[in-house]
Amino acid sequence: MYAPSCIFCKIIQEELPCAKVYEDAHTLAFLDLNPIRPGHTLLLPKIHADTLLNLDSGSGEALMQAMRKIGQAMITGLGAEGFNCLQNNFSAAGQEVMHLHWHIIPRNRADQLAFRWNPGKYADKDEMTALAQKLGGHIA
Ligand code: 5GP
Ligand code: ZN
Repeated sequence: MYAPSCIFCKIIQEELPCAKVYEDAHTLAFLDLNPIRPGHTLLLPKIHADTLLNLDSGSGEALMQAMRKIGQAMITGLGAEGFNCLQNNFSAAGQEVMHLHWHIIPRNRADQLAFRWNPGKYADKDEMTALAQKLGGHIA
């Protein structure tokens, strides 16, 4: 439920302040302290989960609904032309705060923001098929 050493749990418990954007029974959203665009929002489940892998089964739908509401508000209220929803799992993927959260980032065509993304290639169709089967074979 609540992890005593978790900074986001402290925000949920109102032991630490935040600039709140949205709240419901399952989720809380507030502005990121160090925004990559103005309005950059963090959305999290109220029940502590380190990563997506241990999210409680009751919060998923609420998080998706909240993401949609916040994205719509960025378009309607902030004049955004789009928005990104990003979510990091484990430090190897860039996660710094170990309480599951989504970054919701308002975007405009002219905002100059770019995510480093260098698309690669598979050697051939067989390599691709083998990898898909290996991955799919581990999905419970
Ligand atoms: P991560 O790298 O874990 O996906 O993202 C963590 C985010 O949390 C960072 O963008 C960072 O700026 C933000 N952050 C860290 N501590 C605080 C805090 O105490 N308050 C707020 N509002 N944001 C925080
Ligand atoms: Zn927490």
